Amino acid sequence: MHQNDSVNERRNERERRARARELERLMKQLDDADARQGLGAWPPADRSRRTRTNAGTKTRTNTRTTTWLLSGTITVLLLGIIIALHPGPQATAVRRLLGFGEGRIMAAPEVPDGPGDYAFVATQRDGRTPVGYDPCRVIELEINPDDAPDDYRDLVDTATRHISEATGLAFKVVGTTDTRPSGRPDDAKGPALVAWADEGEVSELEGDVAGVAGSRAMGIGNGPMFFVSGAVTLDTEVFSDDDVPRDQLQAIVDHEFGHLVGLDHVDDPRELMYAESVGVTEFGPGDLRGLAEIGRIACR
Ligand SMILES: [Zn+2]
Repeated sequence: MHQNDSVNERRNERERRARARELERLMKQLDDADARQGLGAWPPADRSRRTRTNAGTKTRTNTRTTTWLLSGTITVLLLGIIIALHPGPQATAVRRLLGFGEGRIMAAPEVPDGPGDYAFVATQRDGRTPVGYDPCRVIELEINPDDAPDDYRDLVDTATRHISEATGLAFKVVGTTDTRPSGRPDDAKGPALVAWADEGEVSELEGDVAGVAGSRAMGIGNGPMFFVSGAVTLDTEVFSDDDVPRDQLQAIVDHEFGHLVGLDHVDDPRELMYAESVGVTEFGPGDLRGLAEIGRIACR
């Protein structure tokens, strides 16, 4: 008991120091912006006095207005930082006021105990926290049904349900599209594209590869990276082969959606994120832990 308490205390202390370091880093960023844009010291000087001092020509008025706007921006930024560092009921109300949204769409999952490896496609600068989709936003998908199997919608809905259960991330199919994976720019925004293609169109599908998937990450300044859009491309040859069992096809779609949300391959053939299809049809214990970690990241 005592040991646990002291472990908790140490952890709390570590977290407190990490938060303090983060605040210091963000304040430094604000200072830098301040120096670049000539805003003066924080907090800004008394505005009414500055107004009187600067009253005069039109040019001066314009300058003053700009300064005010920028000061306002900094205030919102600073509030944003404080809210991010001190989540709580009051902060939630202020977040709403500032248009930060109302928090997670689905509850954050617990990370299950147990064995099993998992790996992330990308991590934040701490080398540990995964890059993922913002859990406060719905991940939108659009499907190109060309060359898709008849039950494509069921395959996609089942995969998103499996991923949602493991991550607490919400998906929505917003419609169909005629966009081809090969015609989609690398910096595409908007819904992630789910499509079927052959190796003639998407060379990564060459040989035994049954699908490819990934997401594009973006971040602001030194802030955390988030996935903003992505693509899942499935091999028409495999999905039109009657000899491939249905549960194996579902497992392929699930595996690719695992990549979409940020899981990388592992060396353990008992996990669905093993690079080859070896008869595993459900997410393994390591996969589920990795998915939970991805689903637990803080909102943007
Ligand atoms: Zn894979």
